Amino acid sequence: MHVRAGFILALGLIWALPPGSGRAALAGDDGARPEACVWKGTVTIRRQGDLPPPKPKPEEGKTITFGGSHTLSETIVIEVCGEAGALYVQSVRRQLQEDFISDLDERCHEVLCMVPEQKRKRPGHHGRAHYEWHVSILAGQSPAALRQGTHVNLEFSGPRRFRIGGGQTALTDYVSDFVRDDHDACDGSDSHKEIHERTGPPGSAPWSEHQGSPDSGFEVITHLLPPGDSTLGFGFAAAFSGMSMKGSQDLPQPAGAWVRETAEWDLKAESPCPDVLRRLQQDLAYGEAYADEKLAGAAANTDEYDQAASRRAYQILHGSLPPAGNPPDELEAGTDEQGRISGLDDLRRKLEKECKPDIIFASIAAHEEMHGRQEQQFPEYTDGRPRTWGLMEVSAYAMDARMLLEWLMENCPGTGLGDAEKRLEKLERIGERYTPE
Ligand SMILES: [Zn+2]
Repeated sequence: MHVRAGFILALGLIWALPPGSGRAALAGDDGARPEACVWKGTVTIRRQGDLPPPKPKPEEGKTITFGGSHTLSETIVIEVCGEAGALYVQSVRRQLQEDFISDLDERCHEVLCMVPEQKRKRPGHHGRAHYEWHVSILAGQSPAALRQGTHVNLEFSGPRRFRIGGGQTALTDYVSDFVRDDHDACDGSDSHKEIHERTGPPGSAPWSEHQGSPDSGFEVITHLLPPGDSTLGFGFAAAFSGMSMKGSQDLPQPAGAWVRETAEWDLKAESPCPDVLRRLQQDLAYGEAYADEKLAGAAANTDEYDQAASRRAYQILHGSLPPAGNPPDELEAGTDEQGRISGLDDLRRKLEKECKPDIIFASIAAHEEMHGRQEQQFPEYTDGRPRTWGLMEVSAYAMDARMLLEWLMENCPGTGLGDAEKRLEKLERIGERYTPE
């Protein structure tokens, strides 16, 4: 498509899509190769663990009792879509709860006190400590931030085999409390110490408060820390059959690991063929509209000409003229008179979000890139004559239609393309004039 003098001419992509055509076709009936399909569904990673408390080493002259637990429960649910390669992450939900609790009680049977006089005392010193910490996902992280911290990659690793790998990073909320009480059997004194750690909001500066002192026998320390983060990576390989991938498996863990990690997946293939075929038909229609010399001759200027070509393309696609009034234009990409391309990043994001096959974006990008090369190679690119514009467009549409046609031949063997090929060859002959080297 052209953009002239900073004005973006939007051609109606919506025009070319008849109502209801958004429904995806079932893959398989048009012979779509699984490797070329758009896969859509959910990957779930779960981690579970329950570690019994370690047994304290017996020490002579002491009775030690120890209690506690360490548990972990984590779930990440990622909804994705896309072709092989980096998948588009539609949404992420992550829950994490890791809890560590430990209680220690140590009693010395007797102690030899030096002050006030050398004397044995029974029972001896006594100490008790409680320590616990908890990690969870920090509340209030935006869905967009969670999606940005997620990547998922799909690969086909052999016939009917695939591999999915990825990772998720999220901010965590860490809370810990340590309390210790000691009794000194010699001087009869008691001491008390607490250390507390809390997580502040993102971006907060670390902060501490100290009450009491070690000498006074009473001490409370509080730390406020910035949020930490937790990254969970995963990867698994499995077989699939037909046009769906569904299953679960335990992921390998290092020796001695106390956490069990499980992957579950449920993805279905959608055939990319109808979307790509529609795009090819649209490109052919626009190419043919721009190839019509009479249409160019009747237009007073290039703006009028683009509108007429757009209406003609609609007529070629649907057999009737578009409804009266302004067409529902949709912004695509454009190339201006200086050969500058605009709109491609937004367009790529939009197509990814709609889970469209990558070849659609690639063909539009190639079309715009060709206008850039035309601008460099042909001085008449900016002559303002409708017929010149028309022939430039024919070259660009013929080239991107060729990309789509070859892609369909390779990936959608069940799609009838004989007629499209003949129409394209005709356009290619007309488009030769402004096909850059
Ligand atoms: Zn163009």
